[in-house]
Amino acid sequence: MPLLARMLAAPLVIDIRRGAIAGLGSLLAQHNIAPDGRLAVVVGPGQGDAIVPSLHVEAEVFRIADGSYGGAVELGAKLRAGDYAAVAGVGGGKTIDVTKFAALHAGLPMVSVATSLSHDGIASPVSTLEHPNGRGSYGVMSPVAVVVDLDRVRAAPGHLATAGVGDAVSNLSAIADWELSAADTGERVDGLAAAMARTAAQAVLLQPGPERTDEFLTVLAEALIMSGMAMAVAGSSRPASGGDHEIMHAINQLYPGTASHGELAGLGALFCAHLREDKEQFAAISSCLMRHELPRIPQDVGLTQEQFARAVGHAPATRPERYTILERLAMTEPEVSKRVDEYVRAIAG
Ligand SMILES: [Zn+2]
Repeated sequence: MPLLARMLAAPLVIDIRRGAIAGLGSLLAQHNIAPDGRLAVVVGPGQGDAIVPSLHVEAEVFRIADGSYGGAVELGAKLRAGDYAAVAGVGGGKTIDVTKFAALHAGLPMVSVATSLSHDGIASPVSTLEHPNGRGSYGVMSPVAVVVDLDRVRAAPGHLATAGVGDAVSNLSAIADWELSAADTGERVDGLAAAMARTAAQAVLLQPGPERTDEFLTVLAEALIMSGMAMAVAGSSRPASGGDHEIMHAINQLYPGTASHGELAGLGALFCAHLREDKEQFAAISSCLMRHELPRIPQDVGLTQEQFARAVGHAPATRPERYTILERLAMTEPEVSKRVDEYVRAIAG
């Protein structure tokens, strides 16, 4: 018998608004997510302590020091040892990534409470964690609920609050790479995942910026959630991660601490659009990153052209199984330098 539909694992509830954090308790009660107050809350080293009193929920609070794999494993063991019904990760990207991973290992549903919109991990089934020698991505469960507090996002540090613009628009580069792979290697493109990831990116491209209006922040939050859902649909990060993210992984490996996920994804996407000679996509992404004051050239993230070229050369090795424009071109070192030089000139001109 043929299947007539497919089932998707999706959050039960999405709540994006001003002051959403204060409503967390009633949201959990309404949806029976953590009955009897058996809730664990995880906060990061940043805004953590300031946020706890505004949550208005009874919960045991765990503080994490960083976004490390070791910390996530330790948290998972603590959560498993306790008698919790659910765990909420409250914070930016790192806190949410650690909590998603720990929740999977403790067998608990996870609630994602985002205080910045720095990347599309707020609703994705992927957790990125730091190791002593780089970062690794792990498949996890999608959050059962996603809460985005617009007041908190508006107050977040500039380079994190809306850097997710870069991550959202990088979907356009990721999908172009996916289509390239379909043509060159026969890889199957999942039409629904591509539709969700592309629509999310297009919605963000249309936002004027950089003012953090409720409308802009809501569209960005929704776009990042849709990107996460697209990954859940595809069963991999393919709809939101192509050569753009390979370049980001390479920069993180070679020059740790350079810039945030969203900033590097946007820069990588713009460079990949240049490599694809897609003038329309290049112009659209470039103007969007400029309006939102996000990096467009290596110097904007403190890298020299030579350092950036080295990262581009190293990028394919960060994800050997993923075919992108970088694998298609298979550039030599002098070719990479030439394309980087061209690229910087194209933006300056
Ligand atoms: Zn990303």
